Order: sequence, then structure tokens, then C-alpha cells
Amino acid sequence: MVVALHRPTKAIVRRSAIKHNVAAACAQLKAGTELFAVVKANAYGHGLVEVAKLTRAAGATGLCVAVLDEALELRRAGITGPILVLGIVDPEAVQLAADNDIAVPVAENSWLHAASQNLTGTKPLRVHLATDTGMGRIGFTDTAELQQAAAFMQDEPAKFTLAGIFTHFATADEVDDTQFKAQCARFNEFVAALPQRPRYVHVANTATSLWHDACHGNMVRFGVGIYGLNPSGRTIAHTPYALEPAMRIESALVMCKHVPAGTTVSYGATYVSAEDEFIGTVPMGYADGWLRRMQGATVLVDGHRCPIVGRVCMDQFMIRLPHAYPRGTKVTLVGRDGDDEITLQDVADFAGTIHYEIACCLSERVPRVYV
Ligand code: PLP
Repeated sequence: MVVALHRPTKAIVRRSAIKHNVAAACAQLKAGTELFAVVKANAYGHGLVEVAKLTRAAGATGLCVAVLDEALELRRAGITGPILVLGIVDPEAVQLAADNDIAVPVAENSWLHAASQNLTGTKPLRVHLATDTGMGRIGFTDTAELQQAAAFMQDEPAKFTLAGIFTHFATADEVDDTQFKAQCARFNEFVAALPQRPRYVHVANTATSLWHDACHGNMVRFGVGIYGLNPSGRTIAHTPYALEPAMRIESALVMCKHVPAGTTVSYGATYVSAEDEFIGTVPMGYADGWLRRMQGATVLVDGHRCPIVGRVCMDQFMIRLPHAYPRGTKVTLVGRDGDDEITLQDVADFAGTIHYEIACCLSERVPRVYV
């Protein structure tokens, strides 16, 4: 993917916010508990390698990613220390994981047998047992099968090291903790069924670390909190420490024109100016991750809320301005301008989604600028 450096559109990531969020989360940890920073999906759009380094410097002792290639990219960048892949890795690729000291999950015995065929035994593969306690995604659901997996690995010490056991909560960000408690109880049964506790026992995502005491284990997989975003959206406002949003999205007008009443704007001519208007063009579109359904949302120009008029195009969208502005005038899509602010949560609310999705959808074409 080409990064558009010669265009004013950029995602500005504040290093101090990331450091603050991780350090504050680390300060809350119980003694003996570690924090692994979840930097999958290009660190939720904030930049994989840069964020990984920042989180390590702020106190994270390990990193979590979703796919093996993200882990390999971290190793290529010279990042040492524990890395755990959270998604299922192709059993054909496990030697690559072992060679690079990258831990992977196991969710079923057939995978373990296939992985065993592909391991040379020169360096053991670190494995975390994934347990499905109610998320319904990956993981063992049967205690006997989990025990078989542990026994299989114990019999093959040259090929496997049982490094951890974990689960993932479906509702840790909700007020009702019925499902959360049931998942905790089931997880504790799984852990008790093992002959011994592995090095890492982990259940907590950001929401769990913020709002729950139970069943923390000894490692937290801290994701969205790194970026200063509340995992519940607006549901649970209180957090034990302030989360500082790390990302701003800014662009600038590439054109501003004065149009008479009756002028149509963008594909489908869905917008027709009602009177004499000033229409500005912003160089960002759905190919950059600014969703087509953002038509009608507002951006900030010179402290004014300006609506996006007409359809969002692949690389540009248009806004209605209160008066003429010169080319190069700053446009704030996410962030503060004057007394007003647009948050990723506001964008998500408008688009009918969650801030996770808005941040992750920012494409690689948008440069990440670290300040
Ligand atoms: N653990 C697992 C298994 C995940 O899939 C995720 C994210 O989706 C996380 C931890 C981090 O979650 P959050 O970003 O809500 O902290």
C-alpha cells in the first residue's frame, strides 16, 4: 500500500497519551500480574511497530497480535520479549513461530497433532491453551480434551512448551455481569483440571481490567485502553484512571468554491445547495477508511461544525462552509478545534458502529504522524 505523504490528511498519534494509558493500567495491576499490549490490526490503526515500542517502554512486558505475520513484523523490527498470537495459526507455519519465539494458541487436539508433524523439535513452540467459556469463538469447550492437549504437549517436550491458558469474555464491557461470572467459573474449572498452572493464566481484556476484580489471572491483555478509548463506548463512563485518546485525524481544504443555489454535489447528485453556499473539498474518502456512511456527519473548520454534503467518494468528500476559506485551511475530523471536539466515539455513533472499527478501518494510505 502506498502512503499518501503529499496530501494533508494524516492520523496524528500522541505518544504521551499511549504512555500515560499503559503506565496507568500497569500501576493498577495486582502484584505479580503483567500487562501485554494488544497491538493487533496495526495497533488498532495507530501503527504496529511504533505503538509496540511505546507500550514496552511504558511498562508492558509482552505483546499480543492477531496473526503470525504481525508477530514476525515485530521481530523484524527488532522487538524482543514475549509475543502471543491470539488467533489460530496455520499448523504448517508453526516452525516459523517456534524459530522466532512466538507463542500461539491451541484450541483443539487435531490442530496440535497437525502442528506436531510440522515441528522439527529443534526449538519448542510456546503454546497457550485457548478455552471457550462463552465467547463461542476459539477454544476448548471440553475439560477432558483440554487435559489430553496438556498431556500431549508434556509427552513432546522438544516440540511444545505449555506456556499459558486463557479465555476471552463476551460481556466484560456490560453492566450485567451474569455471563461474565459464568465464564469466570468455567475458566477456573479448566485451570483446576490441569496438572499444574502454566506460566501465564490470562483472561482480562481492557474492560475486565477496568471494571472487574474476579479471575484476573496473572496477565492482562490490554488493548483498546492503550489508545485511550473506553471499551464500553458510552455505557460505563467511570474508569479508575483517565483514558487519554491518542489519535487525531486532520486534513486540509484542497479547494473551496462559492456555488449558486441549485448546485449538485458528489455522486448521485444527492445534495443540492439550497442557496449561495461555500463548498470545501477534503482529500479523504472511504479508501482511507472514512466510511461512505459519514455523509451528513460534521467536521471542524476554524471552530465551526461543517456538515459533509453529498456522498463520500473514494478519496475525497465535500463540506459546507460558513464562508470562504483558503486552500490549506485545517479540517479536523477527529480531535479538538477551538472549544469544540469530535471524538472517535462521536464518529462511531454517527456511523452506527464502535470506535474500534473506525480506528481499525483507517487505511495504510493515511500517514501516521507521531508527536
Ligand atoms: N484478548 C483477545 C483474545 C482479543 O481478541 C482482544 C481484542 O479483540 C483483546 C484481548 C483486547 O481487547 P480490548 O481491546 O477490548 O482490550
